[in-house]
Amino acid sequence: MKIVEISSVLLQPMPWVLVKVKTDDGIVGIGEAYHGAGVHQIAVDERLTKTLIGKNPLDVDRCFRDMMKGMSASGYYQGAVMSAISGIEMALWDIAGQAVGVPIWQLLGGRFRDKVRVYNDCHAGKDETPAAYAAKAKEVEARGFTAIKFDIDPLPSRRDAYNRCISNDDIAHYVAVVTAVREALDSNTDLAIDAHWAYAPVDILKVAHAFEDLGLLWLEDPIPAENVEAMAMVKNSTKTPICTGENFYTRFGFRELIQSQAADIVSPDMAKAGGLLEGRRIADFADMYYMPLAPHNICGPIGTFAMTHVCAAVPNFLALEFHHLDNALWSDLVKEGPLIVDGHIATGEKPGLGVTLDEGVAKAAAKEDLGFFS
Ligand code: MG
Repeated sequence: MKIVEISSVLLQPMPWVLVKVKTDDGIVGIGEAYHGAGVHQIAVDERLTKTLIGKNPLDVDRCFRDMMKGMSASGYYQGAVMSAISGIEMALWDIAGQAVGVPIWQLLGGRFRDKVRVYNDCHAGKDETPAAYAAKAKEVEARGFTAIKFDIDPLPSRRDAYNRCISNDDIAHYVAVVTAVREALDSNTDLAIDAHWAYAPVDILKVAHAFEDLGLLWLEDPIPAENVEAMAMVKNSTKTPICTGENFYTRFGFRELIQSQAADIVSPDMAKAGGLLEGRRIADFADMYYMPLAPHNICGPIGTFAMTHVCAAVPNFLALEFHHLDNALWSDLVKEGPLIVDGHIATGEKPGLGVTLDEGVAKAAAKEDLGFFS
């Protein structure tokens, strides 16, 4: 079998990037790349596709390495290029699974679980009161999720965004909001909080210390992610579990974070960190330090379902992110459904990816088609 064509499409209003890989024997693979400027164009750039055309798509890891070599003399890349590579890698696994008649999770080593727990990233709306957050939390919990997440982004009243510092009043507000949410939820429903890299260690530690008796699942990205030493200091200074990783690429990007145990939980985004096998490698690396895996995810249903194969196949999986609870396009893009039932996605037994893109729905949502529907 040989790869004969790679194409992509950028959707709207969510800028989801889908890639399609065609083979000479008729098997077609679908993947999704983390969205970002130009990612759909990089996926079909000749410097990338020329490394794949004519190759055997079943040699997934070799194709992955060839793509990196094609885009960089060093064979190592990050950013939008790695996002495009990740989407193509997912499509190759879809082809491989279909070719041998088994689901991707089987090719990744088999399953630890039939259903993958999904956590809903809640958006509280314009009302910033603790009561509004608590009401939203109860509403999402009632829809079957056993884990949810809220953001504690800087308030408009913040004095100065550049020094990353926050006032005592703002700290008190975050503590009131998170306490109200925690108290509203069933004790068995997990609550995670995302700080989006916005704060100085000295200030977010005041917040993390105040959260310590709330039993949070984690506090995510408390400080900017690029300084692993500073992240380790924060992690080692609080009993509130720290989660990070959505901005790191490939296992090499996770090496220092995991080896220095600078987080309690790691959150790679497989649609940009290198795809499914690289996700499995990062998970296994984290498992050597007994660290759970909670993948970051803002993909549509194709990328989300692709990630469930890794989540099923690694022992240390904790929960997979989900952002699109009432987004009809998320549900309509695949013919199967609903995919999420009682806060879980069943991985199923179908060969390859296991869900079918509704190309009519995708075509109607297409913003720029680079050969995808031809
Ligand atoms: Mg996050």
